[in-house]
Amino acid sequence: MGRDARIYINYELIRVLGLIGLGFYIKEGGAMRVVICSSEVFPFAKTGGLADVCGALALALAKLGVEVKVFMPFYKNIQPQKTFLGYGLTKEKGVEFIFIRNDSYFFRDGLYGSSGGDYPDNLERFSFFSRQVFTLLKRMNLSPQIIHCHDWQASGVLIYLKTLYAQEPLFRDTKGVLTIHNLAYQGIFEREKYPFLGIDWEYFNMHALEFYAKINLLKGGIVFADMVNTVSPTYAQQIQSPEYGCGLEGVLFEKRQRLAGILNAIDYEVWDPKIDKLIYKKYSPLTIKDKAINKQGFQKELGLTKDKDILLLGMVSRLAEQKGIDILSQALESILKKHQVVILGVGDERYHLLLKRLAQRFKKNFSLNLKFDETLAHKIYASCDCFLMPSRFEPCGLSQMISYKYGTVPIVHHTGGLIDTVKDVDDGGGGVVFTEYSSASLMEAVERAKTLFSKKKAWETLLKKIMRYNFSWELTAKKYLELYQKTINL
Ligand code: ADP
Repeated sequence: MGRDARIYINYELIRVLGLIGLGFYIKEGGAMRVVICSSEVFPFAKTGGLADVCGALALALAKLGVEVKVFMPFYKNIQPQKTFLGYGLTKEKGVEFIFIRNDSYFFRDGLYGSSGGDYPDNLERFSFFSRQVFTLLKRMNLSPQIIHCHDWQASGVLIYLKTLYAQEPLFRDTKGVLTIHNLAYQGIFEREKYPFLGIDWEYFNMHALEFYAKINLLKGGIVFADMVNTVSPTYAQQIQSPEYGCGLEGVLFEKRQRLAGILNAIDYEVWDPKIDKLIYKKYSPLTIKDKAINKQGFQKELGLTKDKDILLLGMVSRLAEQKGIDILSQALESILKKHQVVILGVGDERYHLLLKRLAQRFKKNFSLNLKFDETLAHKIYASCDCFLMPSRFEPCGLSQMISYKYGTVPIVHHTGGLIDTVKDVDDGGGGVVFTEYSSASLMEAVERAKTLFSKKKAWETLLKKIMRYNFSWELTAKKYLELYQKTINL
């Protein structure tokens, strides 16, 4: 072969390799475009796990190279970095957060209601939010491949995608994903409100938005979503049954081919005693002895009897029926005769009253904090010996996973996501599990935890073990990415 021919072949080779490289580059460079819509996102607004999950998922997806934009309402306390077309905008760690503004709807003290109950105009508030997502996407000329909506508050987005915006060229290839964080909250409204939605009455039927003559936004979201998932594999199964389906078991069963369960995770940049600035003394499995300094400081701050050998039980929770407050309050009196309890939470007025009465009687052993307080939450996870989660049902639960990281042994009812995350110590796991939903079983579990706690050496080994469990977002975000890809390929 002559010199020129060799040069030509080399040139061709370089050209072909270059093209292959470019192909990869385009593939790599053309990042997946995902829009997340949620009524609460940490650190901007939070009432529970929904906010934690949406905030952490967005950041984890961005780390994987996804182009992520998050839409949420512009609440009273939010201070965006800048405003754009009248909306709020903040960019953080590669994620754009867009705050949809309407002061008459969102400049209020609560996210969803006040102590008097839910705001009466919640349908108007969240359907406005949902429509605005499209208005803004159009103004920005953005065509996401996936719109990922969370719970009933953002279900309107999925409904509009397949109704009002079904013919819109910009959204022709856009697919909708719905994550159900809690089936007990469905966004049910009187039929008279339907015109506010701005969609045709043809969708008010039992195969779409109608639910026993009322409007059900979550049901609409499930029906119109291309893919649905919930926050743990066990809950994904449970919600297809009448016991846990809250009346939507039939719709969910019909959707079962497109219904996944992806376990939530924890953001270890927020929840890690090794770097936590909100606790009394930082610690890790290697410096586990320093956990005792947290307990000491906490007992002092809360005015509890200072005693390292008394079992200190913590709870950070919405005070709702779901969370097992009924069996806990029945068991609490006898628990408080031997152990210490600290509760942080807000919720139903009747539980506030019940707990307040006990707090007056057990001043040295019971600290009741009826408020939302991020700092106190961190101190509870760090200072307590055990964490109480007697939930009647639990879609996933984050607190048990946070507790592990802080070497705080979870005491849990065997249900939903708690089944997927907590195995009993007797079965080689890291928690104390009770199966029957009753105050007697809960008390028995607490006594079992106390027996374990008394055996200091074995207890320390247990704490070190659970602190090393890994429930990080890396794996969970990859599962979401796979789910998105599957949805795009539908
Ligand atoms: P849910 O989403 O059902 O409320 P999760 O266990 O999934 O329950 O998540 C609860 C999250 O909210 C956790 O991060 C927990 O620490 C936090 N949390 C709940 N109540 C309070 C409160 N009163 N103050 C501070 N944090 C709270």
